[in-house]
Amino acid sequence: MKDVFAFSQEPEIILAQYAELKRQVPLLYALLVLNACAVGYTHYGFAPGWTTLGFLGVLIAICGWRIVAWLTAEKAETISVGAARSQLVRTTALAGILGAVFIAWSLLIDQYGGPDERGHVALFIAATVIGCIFCLVYLPQAAMLVTAVVTGPYLLYYLLRGDPVFVAMALNIALVTGVMVWVLLNSFDGFTAMIRSRTELGAKQAETERLNAENALLAHTDVLTGLPNRRYFFSRFEEALQNAKATGSQLAVGVFDLDHFKPVNDTYGHAMGDRLLSEVGRRLAGMASDGVLLARLGGDEFGLLFTDDVGSIPATGQAICDMLAVPFFIDGQRVALGCSAGIAVYPEAGDSVHELFDRSDYALYHMKSTKRGGCALFSLEHETLIRSERAIEAALQSADLETELSVCYQPILCLQTSRILGIEALGRWTSPMIGAVPPDRFITTAERLGRIQALTLALFGKAVHELAQLPFELDLSFNLSAHDICAPDTLDKLTGLIRQAGVNPRRITFELTETALMRDFEAAVSGIEHLRQLGARVALDDFGTGYSSLGYLRRLPLDKVKVDRSFAINVEEASNRTILSAVVGLCRTLGLECVIEGVESEAQLNILIALGYQQAQGYYFAKPMKAGALLEWIQQAGHDRAGNAEAARATRIRSIKLAHSSNEESAA
Ligand code: C2E
Ligand code: CA
Ligand code: CA
Repeated sequence: MKDVFAFSQEPEIILAQYAELKRQVPLLYALLVLNACAVGYTHYGFAPGWTTLGFLGVLIAICGWRIVAWLTAEKAETISVGAARSQLVRTTALAGILGAVFIAWSLLIDQYGGPDERGHVALFIAATVIGCIFCLVYLPQAAMLVTAVVTGPYLLYYLLRGDPVFVAMALNIALVTGVMVWVLLNSFDGFTAMIRSRTELGAKQAETERLNAENALLAHTDVLTGLPNRRYFFSRFEEALQNAKATGSQLAVGVFDLDHFKPVNDTYGHAMGDRLLSEVGRRLAGMASDGVLLARLGGDEFGLLFTDDVGSIPATGQAICDMLAVPFFIDGQRVALGCSAGIAVYPEAGDSVHELFDRSDYALYHMKSTKRGGCALFSLEHETLIRSERAIEAALQSADLETELSVCYQPILCLQTSRILGIEALGRWTSPMIGAVPPDRFITTAERLGRIQALTLALFGKAVHELAQLPFELDLSFNLSAHDICAPDTLDKLTGLIRQAGVNPRRITFELTETALMRDFEAAVSGIEHLRQLGARVALDDFGTGYSSLGYLRRLPLDKVKVDRSFAINVEEASNRTILSAVVGLCRTLGLECVIEGVESEAQLNILIALGYQQAQGYYFAKPMKAGALLEWIQQAGHDRAGNAEAARATRIRSIKLAHSSNEESAA
């Protein structure tokens, strides 16, 4: 059986009891005073003054004090559970004491009245105790104590006096209060059950709200970086744009793309890539503020929404790029990334989410292809580029590759014998829609459009076919794009074309740039091995323009290095000469052939020969030309005759210069 005398231990119930008592106890005191005054009034003149006026004065003072105390007591919403509980205990104790005082006073004053007054006292006690039980319904301990303290002596008193009417009354009252206490305990049970279910409901509601908030957060958060995700970014972007339109304010949107992330991911593995991204997210989160939203859009791409003072956006954009260029340390490993960014400002760059985002992306594209690590603000110049880019895309989509593509050849010479060693095939595209497009532009566009394989195969097919038609044997160098070397399917088809043309694979050198290798290092290495197994050779092109070239030389299965033309052009600079000399030495040590590209003058040539270069290519000897012009050039310069090696160097140079003055691409 549960202990009806014990106070509750449940905080919610204690606080609810306190709240109810705070409302009802002042009424209880008012009732006491009123009832006592009525008895005092009927006994005034019969009973001694101290029992009427004296007692009432003290009673009114005490009850008044308690009424004020309860009315000003701390609210149930703010009071601590401990304080509320002490108040319940105190109230119970005080109820017991006051009950005892009242019954003593009532029975005392009962001595002085006549039959009517005595009836009043009996009624006063009954009415007051019933009133008290009602007012203390939420504190059953106090109600029971009062009932016991009052009805016990009351019953005893009237039994001892023996007046049958009063005995009957006292028994009646004792019975009624007993039943009332029983009812009170039941209703208090109902009250506690109600509070408990309310508490449970509240907890469930709070849990539901918490889960809802958590779900909303998850739906808006990128799990890896903890940054807002793409969906959230674009919904806020849309909102901010509407707001900017309504208020006539500016707004900037930026796209940030990590540099060198892919090779790091490929080299160190995806787990490392993920950790790196989450570190990037941590750094970016530190830059976010009220007017700066940073989000992960996907992969290694991040978005910036800027509603602050838009004038400061270029500086903020650059600061973010600089911050991400600071090396990361993960498990003691130092990893250097970089970041390039493109930014578009509303209303200058467009007035829809789509247009603004596209333009920030174009500014980024421009930045990536011109100066990595920087932040570009979209400008009209980009607009023109976009237009021509789109025109190239459209023309390439519908191009007839067989008829529109052609190949030019640039000779590669041996500087000691002045004999031609081979030719480099360089792709040319003349579109009937937009005219001639430079190879570096149509190659990147074809890569982006996914047409690179068709393009490479068309160019290579033409090149090996023309090579097979030449009346003498020359080696052919052919440029492969990043996509080609990583696509086994493309490599198989290239092999097929070599066989079809009946050319010995040993005569073919495939040229690859470092950027091509960096896209997917592992795949590129297996592509290189595939080509070399075939008997073909592989050259590292544009050497010296990448950022970790020396490491590649040792790690890659290469045959040849082609030193970027920026070195030949600036060969007068002492620092360049030092590098050129080191590179040729290194190639000799590693057993690699070494070709210097972009030789444009005799002065450059002489220095390069002095530095130890044995193979060269450049406008000084010949510009790229069509197969027919190449044939003429070779015959004119006497390069086809064996035994030319004995010719004096002066003759060599003269013959080369002769060719130089007569060959032009247009001559084809
Ligand atoms: P690359 O492989 O480094 O080719 C050499 C580029 O330098 C050629 O430009 C050539 O015309 C130019 N060049 C040669 N000698 C000199 C010189 O003395 N001075 C100067 N200033 N330039 C010289 P081109 O033909 O415009 O090709 C540009 C790039 O486009 C090539 O650079 C190559 O990376 C790419 N490319 C060309 N044809 C193809 C192709 O069929 N497939 C692929 N994937 N890429 C190609
Ligand atoms: Ca090349
Ligand atoms: Ca090159």
